[in-house]
Amino acid sequence: MPGLRVFGAPLRYVQGPGALDSLGEIVRTRHERAVVLIDALLVDALAGRVTASLAGAGVAASVLAASGEVTQARIDAEAEVARAFNPTVIVAIGGGKTLDTGKGIARSLGARMITVPTIASNDGPTSRVIALYDEAHRLVDTPRMDENPEAVVVDTQLISEAPTHFLVAGIGDAAAKRFEAAACARGTGMTSNGTRPLELASVIADECYRLLVQDAREALVSAERNEVSPALERVIEAVILMSGLAFENGGLSLAHSMTRGLLELSDVKSRLHGYHVAYGLLVQLMHEGDVESFRSTRAFFQATGLPVALRDMGQPLSAASADVVVQATLGAPHLANCVPVPTAISLAAAMNSVELGDVTDVALNTRREPRG
Ligand SMILES: [Zn+2]
Repeated sequence: MPGLRVFGAPLRYVQGPGALDSLGEIVRTRHERAVVLIDALLVDALAGRVTASLAGAGVAASVLAASGEVTQARIDAEAEVARAFNPTVIVAIGGGKTLDTGKGIARSLGARMITVPTIASNDGPTSRVIALYDEAHRLVDTPRMDENPEAVVVDTQLISEAPTHFLVAGIGDAAAKRFEAAACARGTGMTSNGTRPLELASVIADECYRLLVQDAREALVSAERNEVSPALERVIEAVILMSGLAFENGGLSLAHSMTRGLLELSDVKSRLHGYHVAYGLLVQLMHEGDVESFRSTRAFFQATGLPVALRDMGQPLSAASADVVVQATLGAPHLANCVPVPTAISLAAAMNSVELGDVTDVALNTRREPRG
């Protein structure tokens, strides 16, 4: 119905050191039978803790090890195994692939979903979206669960022990949300709920960005030392919770559209999603003619270790590589949320300007719009 606006979110979000051990109590509030999908590399380290927590709460659990690409064929096969246990909830513990496989199984079985991210590399844990790939790691579809995960359990001690580059990527993914939600709000953009955004999404996106700029460097130092500091707690909240609420309810724009194009470049596609988004955000800001935000965001990315040019992801910008990226980006589903709407010429010009990194001699052919 025209005029309706929707805000969706997980029912419960739990964050802190040792949160994994509260899993049994969280699952027990609504479920008696759970299938627990754990990243195969983490089964030895975590399965004992997880089954003890669930058993202690009286939840019957069956543990499956997850590995490999998130394909529909793999989800179908795992769903058949899970179905035999008759669970009402799927608990997925691991990185993005494990969580997306778990979401696919939950969607297939009509079960609820609980996510337990062990890295903070993007906002996937709070989201309804499933990123489906083929065996060649090409993104083929992004289906959605009917609801957000019922609970998101974020053990910050576990996340502090993961390699730090995952958190760097998560910061890149989260930083874009402020500008993507703003573009969506000031244009005619729609969110993944299929409506115009409510005001709250921009409030969250703005605060997410402010926290990242304030705390990212200190958080990364803590993460290097495997220490959970208040700054690291805030950055993890920004990367997983705020970023997720902001994008689903605020809408995406050019930064995420660019990831479609970047996945077409052989040397770039293996980089983490958050690195693609960070570069895409710089292109978006240049495309919008927002020189001030471009400069400050570029400086922030340099201080954080995020890419500020295509060559930072292993591929120099050429006429051919720009054309590949531009053509795929122009087919992205969020393109209608961009203000101004990109053309092949304007997008290639923005990519060139980002590569130069110097905005002093850039001929800006787009008037800067006030932030909505
Ligand atoms: Zn993202």
